[in-house]
Amino acid sequence: MKKILVSECLLGAACRYDGCSKPDSGVIEAISKCAYIPVCPEALGGLPTPRKPSEIVGDRVLMVDGTDVTYEYKRGAELALKIALENGCEAAILKARSPSCGKGFIYDGTYTKTLKAGNGVCAQLLMDNGIDVINETELDKLNL
Ligand code: SF4
Repeated sequence: MKKILVSECLLGAACRYDGCSKPDSGVIEAISKCAYIPVCPEALGGLPTPRKPSEIVGDRVLMVDGTDVTYEYKRGAELALKIALENGCEAAILKARSPSCGKGFIYDGTYTKTLKAGNGVCAQLLMDNGIDVINETELDKLNL
């Protein structure tokens, strides 16, 4: 049985920047029969909840007030990867559009809810290390 890394907010944890969660019944159902490890890369990186929203701007991650949180995003991604590797996770279901967890599309750095093609910091690092990443809209691609 594959082990799956999962964005914690998709399971109901209130770890999002706004202090809310994004429970997804499809994800919860999909992982009900597997071994899964919940992670929140932004919390792992040391960011508080709630926190100001952040977006990827060039090669940095900036909060809407300009605070540079690149270090925290990279640290959280590295710790999430470490957890995935130590637990033998071959796949991850990550929250769409997040600057950490987003896969395929992320916000474009203008803080206007405009999307562009790209991946969040953690999603990219996991993929670079051979882990299959999908988001909650791609559960049909989950190969357990
Ligand atoms: Fe959810 Fe990922 Fe953002 Fe944490 S970093 S709140 S797991 S989308």
